[in-house]
Amino acid sequence: MEKGKREKLPEYSTSEGMELALAYLSDPSDVACPHCGPNTMEVVAYLDGERLRSGGVVGSAPKSEYTVVLFCHACHRGAALELSPAHQHSPSPPPA
Ligand SMILES: [Zn+2]
Repeated sequence: MEKGKREKLPEYSTSEGMELALAYLSDPSDVACPHCGPNTMEVVAYLDGERLRSGGVVGSAPKSEYTVVLFCHACHRGAALELSPAHQHSPSPPPA
């Protein structure tokens, strides 16, 4: 019996996820883990939202809607932050 072998990995709570998102947006190169502090988080991958929808998981330079996958090496928590710069103001009207 391999009990506990496939234990669920710890996850960030919603508020911790918000903290991570804010930290990422203010400085993507310096995201601190809410549990462990700075210098433990690594950006594992960028997932392009549009390409994701069309079926492929690709690492890509973030442009429009994208997901950033972060991982803390200290507490082994992972977080996927969905970021949509489109939410910032300056809505561009669709081309006529
Ligand atoms: Zn941590």
